Amino acid sequence: AKRDGRNRFHFFSGEIRAGLLARQQLMSDLRAALDGQQFRLHYQPKVDLDQGRVTGVEALLRWPQPDGTFRPPLDFIPLAEETGLIVPIGAWALREACRQTREWTAAGLGPLSVAVNVSPAQFSAPDFTAQVQQALRDTGLPPQQLELELTEGLLLHDIPLAQGVLTTLRELGVQTSIDDFGTGFASLSYLKRLPVSGLKIDQSFVQDLGAADTAIVQAILTISGALNLSVIAEGVETAAQAQHLLKLRCSRMQGYLFARPLPPADLPAWHRAWRAP
Ligand code: C2E
Ligand code: CA
Ligand code: CA
Ligand code: CA
Repeated sequence: AKRDGRNRFHFFSGEIRAGLLARQQLMSDLRAALDGQQFRLHYQPKVDLDQGRVTGVEALLRWPQPDGTFRPPLDFIPLAEETGLIVPIGAWALREACRQTREWTAAGLGPLSVAVNVSPAQFSAPDFTAQVQQALRDTGLPPQQLELELTEGLLLHDIPLAQGVLTTLRELGVQTSIDDFGTGFASLSYLKRLPVSGLKIDQSFVQDLGAADTAIVQAILTISGALNLSVIAEGVETAAQAQHLLKLRCSRMQGYLFARPLPPADLPAWHRAWRAP
């Protein structure tokens, strides 16, 4: 038994060492990517099928690799979050999204809002709202065109802090929405204490829209109507899903049915060509 234990110890320590090395490698690659300005943003359109127009885009981080592929965000964002590197990466993404959207607006594309994903470490940094203001000032993007996507976990982690930050953002005129809404474990009562402007219904509720999903989506729509929150459904992939959502009176959608996240060079042509179905 003793020898078993020792063998197991050796086995695990080798594994742990390999894991640590992989993490260290990823960290230094991330740093190099940030310093070398290798990150890119792709933009996924959001549409309103009642209004028949494109309402905005969501900026999604892309990390190009030497072989031409992109390393998926969920591959590296957790470690970037853990180590704090997400703070400068997120600051870059915020500024770049504002700059790009201001450029599109100046070129006559729009009105278009841009949504930027904010990580917990970024949101809780003491200078977060100053960073937002600075990005708006430097790029000249009107605050009304900026939306920040926040997760339930981030908001509930420290409610007084979240209330303060959200209030400042609201005073600035910046929109805020709760991402992946419905997947958290929290009760809905916290919604009335958090001054956000909208909810994004998580794609897991949109995929098959069976009886239970439909009931949940209806409940989300009812509560957002009562609290005067905007609602968008994400992950819409099929015409049947879009039709079902329209029947439930949810007309704002985002998903592969309309467009994948696009490199910025491709957005203007897509936008001009798009017609509501
Ligand atoms: P998210 O914010 O929930 O973004 C939606 C994800 O769903 C994106 O994946 C998007 O490409 C994908 N998606 C869009 N439409 C569809 C669809 O119709 N079907 C399916 N199956 N998926 C769809 P992506 O780009 O891989 O991003 C994954 C996550 O990484 C994001 O989830 C977000 O949490 C995080 N992320 C991305 N960019 C940033 C960023 O700049 N900062 C931070 N903090 N997180 C980011
Ligand atoms: Ca998002
Ligand atoms: Ca989401
Ligand atoms: Ca998600």
